[in-house]
Amino acid sequence: MSWRDEAACLDVDTDVFFPAKGDRPVEALAVCAVCDVRAECASWALEVRPQIGVFGGMLPRDRHHVVTGRLTVAQVWAMRDRQVEAWMMEAAS
Ligand code: SF4
Repeated sequence: MSWRDEAACLDVDTDVFFPAKGDRPVEALAVCAVCDVRAECASWALEVRPQIGVFGGMLPRDRHHVVTGRLTVAQVWAMRDRQVEAWMMEAAS
């Protein structure tokens, strides 16, 4: 059994994780935020370095910041979790 079998995105439309330019990746980040294997997925994404897509609760630019040492994964997650909350509140108002 792989960590992928525990992924919260197993039943989520893959397109959600590849938002069009300018679209807010709210749903993808919200799913990642509650995923039990976010850490494993983040490690994979930092190693494989996919150029597009939301993986491990991070956007491509987030992964770049981690790889270059500007942010830690924990800092990215905290930032993205706050952003998703703000986007959801904005959408609900
Ligand atoms: S962290 Fe996100 S992309 Fe990775 S397995 Fe979990 S839900 Fe899927």
